[in-house]
Amino acid sequence: MRRLTLLGATGSIGASTLDIVRRHRARYSIHALTADTRVEAMHDLCREFEPAFAVMRDAPSAGRLADSLAGGPTRVLDGESGLCEVAAAAEVDTVVAGIVGAGGLLPTLAAVSAGKRVLLANKEALVMAGELFMRELSRHGAELLPLDSEHNAIFQCLPPATIGQGIDAAGVERIILTGSGGPFRDLEIDALEDVTPAQACNHPNWDMGPKISVDSATMMNKGLEMIEACWLFAVDQSVIDIVLHRQSIVHSMVAYRDGSVIAQLGNPDMRTPIANALAWPERIESGVEPLDLLRVGSLDFMPADERRYPCLALAREAWHQGGTAPAILNAANEVAVAAFLDGRIRFTDIARVIEAVIEQGRSEPAASLDAILDADDKARKLAREQLSEQV
Ligand code: NAD
Ligand code: MG
Repeated sequence: MRRLTLLGATGSIGASTLDIVRRHRARYSIHALTADTRVEAMHDLCREFEPAFAVMRDAPSAGRLADSLAGGPTRVLDGESGLCEVAAAAEVDTVVAGIVGAGGLLPTLAAVSAGKRVLLANKEALVMAGELFMRELSRHGAELLPLDSEHNAIFQCLPPATIGQGIDAAGVERIILTGSGGPFRDLEIDALEDVTPAQACNHPNWDMGPKISVDSATMMNKGLEMIEACWLFAVDQSVIDIVLHRQSIVHSMVAYRDGSVIAQLGNPDMRTPIANALAWPERIESGVEPLDLLRVGSLDFMPADERRYPCLALAREAWHQGGTAPAILNAANEVAVAAFLDGRIRFTDIARVIEAVIEQGRSEPAASLDAILDADDKARKLAREQLSEQV
């Protein structure tokens, strides 16, 4: 039986993970669940899964949860120290990193440093701290399995044991990342200025949290995923093609030297990559509807227009600069997306804010956690200054 810590239990990745756990109670048990501040949702999950620990982001939420669970088997902790404690706990062998954004970095790194099997959805952590992350991974003998559907697809299309090892020996020529293009792929570019947060969160194929939904609409998500793939598969961005694929059926592809292209297909449902990584190298039932290609009918592929998706070029620039530039990119994006979701800036301002921050920010070597956190902090300040210049 595998014992899990689920970071980000109340989110979209959390819900999909718990759905798989429910289907396989004899294989998986929950050591800890964590959430930001949604006490009621956490209360229900703790009643159902009876974890040994629950962690809330702040002390008031933790206090309310502890009161509501009094007399039960679950101990409630709070804050970053609580998150890191349950991510590194000796009883746990698998940690699902399902927190969104930079808030997931320290607990995910704690799981890596404790030598866990880490199932990574929290791409921002790898984008910010890829060099450190991959170094700690090999130093502590941790195992990294991607949950992001594209990276899980690539992982399935590669020979075993290629995470962090490079793809040359495997005869790989290119990695082809697919992306749906988000809800505004067919909109006039001039109309992008007036789209609302609700429209941006209404993704045509996937049901996801608000931040990644906006990232999908700007395609910053694909830019972050390009950087994520560079670290996971030890390649440069020049090896990676980004292709628009509106059906989200082909989750990504690997092209080999001999002309073979291997793709992973399936319905757009995160339970497939989550089940794949949870059970790896076995295969378990996930509840995902079987793919009916006759119903899908056709699969389309198109180039991504960088006038529509300026964030793609910004992500390439950040990877090209290296060092802390991806952490700067990520921080500026998080601030800009939150401001857009709050109605404080327009959709098209997101890329403008990030571009200005990349121009003003200075990329430094990213070998230490302090350097990364410092870059993140400074980039957030620069981004907040930029916000007032938009609108
Ligand atoms: P979400 O907003 O639905 O859920 C986020 C979870 O993290 C919630 O449980 C929330 O309580 C918790 N959280 C947020 N900020 C926190 C903080 N500072 N400290 C502690 N906990 C915090 O997001 P999501 O869509 O589930 O995405 C989670 C991660 O997975 C993101 O990095 C996203 O890019 C990635 N991802 C998601 C999907 C998807 O289908 N949802 C697909 C691929 C990758
Ligand atoms: Mg993805």
